[in-house]
Amino acid sequence: MKAEQQLAHLTQYDALTGLPNRMLLRDRLAQALARAKRAQTLLGVMFLGLDNFKEINDSLGHAVGDQVLVEVSNRLRGCLRGTDTIARHGGDEFSILLEDVHSMEEITRVAQKLLAAMAAPLRVAERDVYVTPSIGITVYPLDDLAPDRLLRNAELAMSQAKQEGRNNFQLFSPDMGARSEQRLDLQTRLRRAIEREEFVLHYQPQLEISTGRIIGVEALVRWNNDELGLVQPARFIPLAEDTGLIVPIGEWVLRTACRQMRAWQSQGYGKLVVAVNLSPRQFNQRNLVQTVEDILRDSGLDAGSLELEITEGSVMRRTEDAIVTLDRLHALGVQLSLDDFGTGYSSLAYLKRFPVNKLKVDQSFVRDIQTNKDDAAIVTTVVALAKLLGLTAIAEGVETPDQLDFLRVNGCDEYQGYLFSRPLPPEGVESLLQANARERR
Ligand code: C2E
Ligand code: MG
Ligand code: MG
Repeated sequence: MKAEQQLAHLTQYDALTGLPNRMLLRDRLAQALARAKRAQTLLGVMFLGLDNFKEINDSLGHAVGDQVLVEVSNRLRGCLRGTDTIARHGGDEFSILLEDVHSMEEITRVAQKLLAAMAAPLRVAERDVYVTPSIGITVYPLDDLAPDRLLRNAELAMSQAKQEGRNNFQLFSPDMGARSEQRLDLQTRLRRAIEREEFVLHYQPQLEISTGRIIGVEALVRWNNDELGLVQPARFIPLAEDTGLIVPIGEWVLRTACRQMRAWQSQGYGKLVVAVNLSPRQFNQRNLVQTVEDILRDSGLDAGSLELEITEGSVMRRTEDAIVTLDRLHALGVQLSLDDFGTGYSSLAYLKRFPVNKLKVDQSFVRDIQTNKDDAAIVTTVVALAKLLGLTAIAEGVETPDQLDFLRVNGCDEYQGYLFSRPLPPEGVESLLQANARERR
């Protein structure tokens, strides 16, 4: 190749995957639009982002990350026709142009094919790596005519696909712009919330069923914003998780909860445990164990008084790595519990290898314990499973005396829920702790 050609190639193709880059994509899009206009056909524009690429990169390293990207691009390319274009934007984002299509169905069929192709693991560096895509789709001339706006539409639709739980595709709709602006606004506020110290922790008591004794509290974060009021975690934790803001927020939560518990212990409230939620992104942070260790040391709380709640999803995704992290946390002496248990997919074989202390029955099963036979069966099974593995079983979301009776009869060890108390600010918890101690005297 002549130097000039080489240079042209470098500026138009992605060096890693050999796919057209963003610049060449623009050319191709312009040509494809001209052809579609002339032939009066549709043009499908897809924007595809990988759901968990950052996690892979962080945990397995950039070299493996690069190989994953190469494998992904090969697999995606394998689903397309010669006349389609696939380009890499850089990072873990790709665009696909589907030419000469005549119906929406043809386009969605390709999207389904892409999702199906990515469902099987990639074999990279002698491991099975699971990568799922979120796909946004827009169609010329139905959604827009201008190339810039088509690309933007597809990207907006992809963000929507991520919010719909990832690993799916979404067709662009005009209201996506407004929704994404709202989200961006929330994100900007959330970013500032850390510096402005707008977060507060509420604590929900956890009780031993046989004695009615408060044995600990779960720390639940709240966001107190001037304009938005008190924002519940369901509204901002997923966003924090997506943007990575969960890492500094989570660290603040952990630090505050440990300090609070240390203060309660030194005020003579007895040996209580504080449970702190860890999101998947936090759990996968390389320096998690170090952070926990530092925070315990700084706060002066003994490791045994801290419990980390980890969701099934965090540990079942990359089980071997998860076991290493869990083992190290266990070695520190912290308690570990599996939150929302029963909602995900757990393998018994792995469960045996996780050094966890507790299974936390998800509140969705507890809610209908009285009326739904399946839910009742799940609860009794999880409790029995906990016993079998020598673990403690705790139920969350207990609202009625009947639910508590059911749990007691079936051997569940602990519970938390509105029946005893909602999550409360520290002062509220203190009154409950005092009352609980008096009752039991
Ligand atoms: P989770 O860890 O499963 O927490 C239990 C949720 O159930 C809490 O909701 C709690 O207020 C609620 N709850 C407790 N008792 C009852 C009851 O009797 N009935 C009903 N209907 N609900 C009850 P909350 O505080 O809104 O938190 C929701 C989720 O947000 C948590 O689910 C957890 O996954 C996440 N979260 C909360 N705080 C944090 C945090 O500091 N870090 C992270 N990573 N996630 C958090
Ligand atoms: Mg929890
Ligand atoms: Mg839960």
